[in-house]
Amino acid sequence: MKVLISADMEGVAGVSSWVHVTAAEGRAARPTSSIEYERARLRMTREVNAAADGAFAAGATGVVVADAHGGKRNLLPDELDPRLRYVTGTDNDLGMMQAIDEEGIAAVFFTGYHAKAGTPGGPLAHTSTGWVHDVRVNGVSMGEYGMNAIIAGHFGVPVALVTGDDLAVAQTQALLGERVVGAVTKQGYSLSSAQHIAPQAARDLIRAGAIEALGRLDELEPYVMPDGATVEIDLDHQARVDSCGYLPGVERAGDRTLVIHPANGYEFGKFWRAILAAGAQMGM
Ligand SMILES: [Zn+2]
Repeated sequence: MKVLISADMEGVAGVSSWVHVTAAEGRAARPTSSIEYERARLRMTREVNAAADGAFAAGATGVVVADAHGGKRNLLPDELDPRLRYVTGTDNDLGMMQAIDEEGIAAVFFTGYHAKAGTPGGPLAHTSTGWVHDVRVNGVSMGEYGMNAIIAGHFGVPVALVTGDDLAVAQTQALLGERVVGAVTKQGYSLSSAQHIAPQAARDLIRAGAIEALGRLDELEPYVMPDGATVEIDLDHQARVDSCGYLPGVERAGDRTLVIHPANGYEFGKFWRAILAAGAQMGM
């Protein structure tokens, strides 16, 4: 039994500002601090190690971690548990879920996850980028936790553990079921404020959560998107919808809303990444 960890950063204990999660080469519009970022990525790496250690303690025979934040090279390789294999970088096939198609993956852990765009009190809440306002699959609103669960579901793999802020955990469990184990690293106050537990306490909670999660694996089911589902995506500006409208299979459904009908969860992921690329271009 192998585990894939999809490791994001915004939900890590001690993280509550874009400064914590933005590398120096990040968007010029955001302030960066190499000291703050370096400390946050070390805590991110240690939370991944805690999840992996719990997985191995519960009988996992292998753990792969996909760096799932920003440019996807935040994890500190030299600090990783030596039993881990890890994925870095962008423009691969499955994005935040890279390696989910690997033989023998039986469970997914989401670490460092955050709430969906627009969640009141959700620290650093967003959905992939600052300009996506909502994603609805057959009318059900979801954030990255749902979209990545759909990709895992396509490969028959359930989400077993989610770690992050209280709202990220609550939204994930509301969508995927209460049997998904949650480890809450902080209580959100606002987009940029939270009350955290100490990093070591968070790691202890995550390790225990990983053990519990693999212990109840037979109670969990993959989250499978119905074939041909209707997916609506609200963006912040009609110009982005204009850009995305050039993509085959993408329809306009209002000033700032797109509609797609992916054949399956894998195609959903491909659509999503094409929309992110096309929508980043604003007509001038
Ligand atoms: Zn992120």
